[in-house]
Amino acid sequence: MTEKLYYSDGYLRETDAVVTAIDGDAVILDRSIFYPEAGGQPGDRGMIGSFIVSDTKKGADGTPLHIVKGEKPEIGKSYHIVLDWEHRYFYMTEHSAQHLVSALLHSMYGIGTAAVHQGEEFFTIETDRDEIDTSVLLSVEDAASDAIRAGYRIYQLSMSHGEAEALHMRRSIKVQGDVLVVFIEGIDAVACGGVHLRSTSEIGEITFCGSERIRGHVRTIWKCSSLSVAERRRNASIVSSLSALLSSEPEKIVESAGRLAEECAELRREVRTLSVRIAEYAYMAARERTQKGKAVIFIADTDISAFEGAVPEDEEQSVLVLSGNRFLFHGTEERFALLRKGLSSFSIRGGGRGVMFRGSFAGDASVVAEEAGKILDDQPAQ
Ligand SMILES: [Zn+2]
Repeated sequence: MTEKLYYSDGYLRETDAVVTAIDGDAVILDRSIFYPEAGGQPGDRGMIGSFIVSDTKKGADGTPLHIVKGEKPEIGKSYHIVLDWEHRYFYMTEHSAQHLVSALLHSMYGIGTAAVHQGEEFFTIETDRDEIDTSVLLSVEDAASDAIRAGYRIYQLSMSHGEAEALHMRRSIKVQGDVLVVFIEGIDAVACGGVHLRSTSEIGEITFCGSERIRGHVRTIWKCSSLSVAERRRNASIVSSLSALLSSEPEKIVESAGRLAEECAELRREVRTLSVRIAEYAYMAARERTQKGKAVIFIADTDISAFEGAVPEDEEQSVLVLSGNRFLFHGTEERFALLRKGLSSFSIRGGGRGVMFRGSFAGDASVVAEEAGKILDDQPAQ
């Protein structure tokens, strides 16, 4: 049985240990400072002598399995073991911050925690509610900041199942036998087998970053410590860049951006009107130079959709407009089928109904126009 030193001292970064067994890539030690992955907290990384531990998993009986790829250390030999402290401390901080937020959600509003996730960028708390007002989450953020400033002690006690039950904790106890209970002095007690900070002050700061709906629950997103600082700086930088771009004071950028969006929409409508007008002229000019009874075929550089309103419904001649790799055909279904068959080597895609057909083609537009002319003009006019 490995002695789990991370429970007696979560801040122990290095010590000596003896390799007692090796199973595949899993190295087992007589004592370990490596916390195995559990409850959303990732497994530790570090070194056993000169061997790299890439991850630590939990064995069937809770034994830490130190994952070492490639060459392995020797069974029975003692090694100096060292944690990747930056990695451990980051997740220990995030995990402690999650305890604090879950505790406050519960004590202030009776909101329960359904699931948690710890990530490299943020941590999430999925609540048991389908709706939570943002003001509620912001007041929890305020209370978390107060708790960080107050520097409440965080400590873990091992107790019997009965003693733990008597604490009436916010979350049910999932283990049998003795229970590890984590306390945030005066705020929270919860059964947890993770590793934690010594004080809430070490969390530094917590920022509420937003919420989303998942599985019918509200999932809240948070950042702590250096990630929270980075979030604040990133947001300030975005506001400052937008303020410069819009030549607007920070307080007025939303208003300025709204006005800009309205102006863009208005300009888009104007461009559309003009495009349709250009399409009408292009169609009329092409029709002018086409012999009566022949198909009107031309290449345009206006957006093809502008031609949809440009060709009159009762146009009797077939019309084929090509723009980029898009086409619009006005004519009977029979003639479109004929055109499609004749132009099969141009990978025609698309279709339509009535007298309007649209889609795309592959190849040179002028060659398509020439081929289409041969096909349509060989047929009786409609
Ligand atoms: Zn915990």
